[in-house]
Amino acid sequence: MAGIGLLMAAAAVPGTALADTVYVTAGNLNCREGKSTDSAVLGTVPRGTKIQRESDDGTWSRVTVNGNACYVASRYLSSQEPSSVLDGKSAVQVHEKNVHVESSKDVFLDKNWEFASFSKINSEAAVYYKNGRADRKGKTVCVNAGHGTRGGSSMKTLCHPDGSPKVTGGTTGAGAVYASAISSGMTFADGTPESTVTLAMAKKLKDKLLAEGYDVVMIREEEDVQLDNVARTVIANNTADIHISLHWDSTTSDKGCFFMSVPDHRSYRAMEPVASHWQSHNALGESLVKGLKEKGNKIFSSGAMAMDLTQTSYSTIPSVDIELGDKASDHSDAALEKLADGLVLGIGRYLDGQK
Ligand SMILES: [Zn+2]
Repeated sequence: MAGIGLLMAAAAVPGTALADTVYVTAGNLNCREGKSTDSAVLGTVPRGTKIQRESDDGTWSRVTVNGNACYVASRYLSSQEPSSVLDGKSAVQVHEKNVHVESSKDVFLDKNWEFASFSKINSEAAVYYKNGRADRKGKTVCVNAGHGTRGGSSMKTLCHPDGSPKVTGGTTGAGAVYASAISSGMTFADGTPESTVTLAMAKKLKDKLLAEGYDVVMIREEEDVQLDNVARTVIANNTADIHISLHWDSTTSDKGCFFMSVPDHRSYRAMEPVASHWQSHNALGESLVKGLKEKGNKIFSSGAMAMDLTQTSYSTIPSVDIELGDKASDHSDAALEKLADGLVLGIGRYLDGQK
């Protein structure tokens, strides 16, 4: 689903007894800084959300939710509760304080983009968030919540654009020419699917990046998005400066973080687009691991494991699959917070000049 993450929760504000209670009737109602459609969008409120209205000039209503004041178009507010209200999937999401999104838009796979024709699953869209902060950096990070594409393992895509076989093992064995379009991912020791944790991580990372002034492309913001690994990679190639996919590994030793580095195989490193980009993939991965380490996250071995991945094989921008732990790792909110801080540090250093 498209749309900006919700800025605020729908709790009633104490001490506003005079305000009337209204319901949002639009799909995702923009909450703006001022009374104009040119005014910055601070967040969105889903259909069916109950909010408190302070005033209404007939066109714009001033609403206060969770202490935040903003303006919404009055025609999308009603005193009648809508017949269909949001399900739990669209639960309220609270942004970090410093997040200011100017606009967002869906990004579908464009058939004319290089390698787009290799994708098999691409009926849905990623979402691009343009930063509205005064200190916007003009750099875009593609955040790819690993897995979460129903039917992905029953479709096959070419491992390499030139049709050559895979040079390392992994989810698909070495020597294979075709791999799952996208796999379903592992299940944590406590029963949580990897795709649930990568999604929670992606949302956290998104807000932190927006708060730092980066634009963000979110590949997946729901339980499922119909975009396979090739589609995700090609969308990143054409909309972002760097691409980071979030994963946890399938071992059970709580081994810590590492990135999937580009295999040191002559044929693989000679194949385009890998030939022109493998050094930047590895440099980004090293920066992420360094950031994670500095923020106190556990690192596995040297922090890198060579792997021939679809993502790497089709990437034309610095692109990394980061494994943030494994089946036995703590994936509590506090743990994800610490991981996100490490990633933001590594991303910032890489984009600000590969320090
Ligand atoms: Zn994974």
